[in-house]
Amino acid sequence: MNPVKIVLLGATGSIGTSACNCIRRFPELFEITGLSAHSSKEKLLGLAEEFQPDSVCIGEAASADALRKSLGTSVRVFTGEAGLEELVNETDFDILLNALVGAVGLRATVAALKRNKRVALANKESLVVGGDYITSLLQNGSGRLVPVDSEHSAILQCLGGENHSAVESIILTASGGPFRTRPLDRFEDIRPRDALNHPTWSMGKKITIDSATLVNKGFEVIEAHHLFAMPYDRLRVVIHPQSIVHSMVEFHDGAIIAQMGVPDMELPIQFALSYPQRLPLRTKRLNLAQLGELTFFEPDFSRFPCLRLCLDAGRSGGTMPAVLNAANEVAVAAFLDGRLGFNGIADVLRLALDNHSPVPVSGIEVVEEADRKTRELAGKFIAGMKK
Ligand code: NDP
Ligand code: MG
Repeated sequence: MNPVKIVLLGATGSIGTSACNCIRRFPELFEITGLSAHSSKEKLLGLAEEFQPDSVCIGEAASADALRKSLGTSVRVFTGEAGLEELVNETDFDILLNALVGAVGLRATVAALKRNKRVALANKESLVVGGDYITSLLQNGSGRLVPVDSEHSAILQCLGGENHSAVESIILTASGGPFRTRPLDRFEDIRPRDALNHPTWSMGKKITIDSATLVNKGFEVIEAHHLFAMPYDRLRVVIHPQSIVHSMVEFHDGAIIAQMGVPDMELPIQFALSYPQRLPLRTKRLNLAQLGELTFFEPDFSRFPCLRLCLDAGRSGGTMPAVLNAANEVAVAAFLDGRLGFNGIADVLRLALDNHSPVPVSGIEVVEEADRKTRELAGKFIAGMKK
């Protein structure tokens, strides 16, 4: 059998690096035909020399010539955001592993689904901003989405061969992040280095901040709504500090099926590539007796207002989640470079959502228009707050 051909976008990030480890372990099963990075040119070059893809994409056009010189004429070099979409359209592959961060990932997901390919989706923002459009592409084509996000991978595994109509609810677990027990009156002092110190997962900066505000969990509820066609009133969030139960499905006879394991993204990444098969993985094993106890709590919406804002945006639908995401991307970037306080992130989301009247997500353009306007508004708001 020929190896499965994989395009890996965001190859130099946290998920991209773990994905390369998975692919290295099974050279007879997987082959990389396309790779991308934004600014990590040297890292991309190293990966391209190792995996010998047909195409690569780099964010900055200025780096493209150096890549062309080093890689020779057998590798096509694309550049910029448009280059990501071109790479997906013009490279031979079976699975797109989308490990880009942010709404910039949407066009690649859409292009792969339009080619009726499988998308192993880490880039949850694709579904947050374009979920309704992606659902229509899935319904009208033969492409398929397989989640990489650990919670959604868990849900897929819990659903197994079960009948969808027997599902009563989906329960997403959340670690609660680094501020799970911090009193509200100390949120004002939170600095980027505190928020980047996640208790259970090691991830890219943006998702680590999203985990500290619980925006990440809000996004995951929206992601689950689209992936599993589940209404919002049957999607629940429970805080589980140990990050051992990755999520659960409750059936209409009261049975709850959970998927457990040590927190390590290599399992969900590998599962998304081999799905529906399982491949062996020699990772650290879970020892429940050693762990002693697993605990669960209700989320605290008063200390984590972003979670409520996300759930409300999801329920409002249309372009509301795209606005939520754009405001969040701007706010997180401002927080990381010291232009916005931690509590200010929720203020920016609230302002953006309050100023938007949603329209249906009929295609990419409508999403990009809402995204553009929101970034402008959020940027002005943050600049004004400083004065
Ligand atoms: P990272 O920040 O570690 O990596 C992001 C990747 O995307 C890098 O390769 C980066 O390139 C590239 N990139 C960044 N910005 C752009 C841009 N504007 N245009 C094109 N490429 C860009 O992120 P993560 O790996 O942590 O996360 C990736 C996605 O997976 C996110 O959507 C996240 O929510 C999701 N996810 C991540 C998990 C994790 O454990 N990390 C868990 C579950 C989901 P460069 O290196 O050159 O900057
Ligand atoms: Mg997750």
